Amino acid sequence: TPVLELVDLVAGYRSRHGLLGRRNEVRAVAGVSLSVSAGETVCLVGESGCGKSTVARAVVSLLRPFSGEVRFDGRNVTGLKGRELKNLRRQVQLVFQDPYASLNPKMTVRELISEAWRIHPGIVEPDGWDAEVARLLERVGLNPGHAERYPHQFSGGQRQRISIARALAVRPRLIVCDEAVSALDVSIQAQVLTLLRELQRDLGVAYLFITHDLGVVRHFADRVAVMHLGSIVESGDTEQIYEHA
Ligand code: ADP
Ligand code: ADP
Repeated sequence: TPVLELVDLVAGYRSRHGLLGRRNEVRAVAGVSLSVSAGETVCLVGESGCGKSTVARAVVSLLRPFSGEVRFDGRNVTGLKGRELKNLRRQVQLVFQDPYASLNPKMTVRELISEAWRIHPGIVEPDGWDAEVARLLERVGLNPGHAERYPHQFSGGQRQRISIARALAVRPRLIVCDEAVSALDVSIQAQVLTLLRELQRDLGVAYLFITHDLGVVRHFADRVAVMHLGSIVESGDTEQIYEHA
């Protein structure tokens, strides 16, 4: 069974329109089906506005689909609540384009990472937090002695490593990367992608990797799904897709 399956997903946004304030459902994606197996990297590519982030939000349950299913380990997880939703959110982590948007500037790296263990108890006991923070920082290529620093004291690439360390802290099965390297210089991009690859090899984590950058896809994806105007128009092994391009 794949870690993640999307089955005929239809999702979008609700808005109020017109004189009567009628509620409209605006579809951003329709009929999206996709699967990601354990330890696999699937890239979702397409031009800006084609619906990639909408798919990402549905996968991490920030957005409830209009119809269709999001399956995790074969189980439909659309509409989960409470403890079950929290457990799902532990297993599926999101890494954004701009770590500034997701890293609270008033928290140190140690606080940012250990917050995850406060939210999800039972992963690491409090007396082990400092050692585990140091281990994670080292794992993502940061100085473990910098745990008391704040996000603004790091470069863009280093901040993205902090986001990755925080995602790893809860030992997820799937990481959804939404343009996670797009804001970085090309050489820094390559370094972060190498790190993501190493983590996959060592931990078996799967990636749903969202990007508009075909260069990144070619070197990073096992499989590719190409989106256009809210639907997947082509999908297959990376080699196969590039032969046709
Ligand atoms: P991508 O990630 O590929 O750039 P998005 O999923 O962000 O595309 O957007 C898909 C469509 O949904 C676009 O037409 C966009 O304008 C629309 N959209 C995105 N976010 C919202 C929102 N919060 N409210 C209304 N429409 C949105
Ligand atoms: P990256 O190329 O990793 O995205 P940036 O473009 O953000 O990095 O930064 C380029 C260089 O500037 C880095 O080597 C980093 O050391 C330095 N730098 C960036 N932001 C800061 C900051 N807030 N404080 C100190 N140095 C910074």
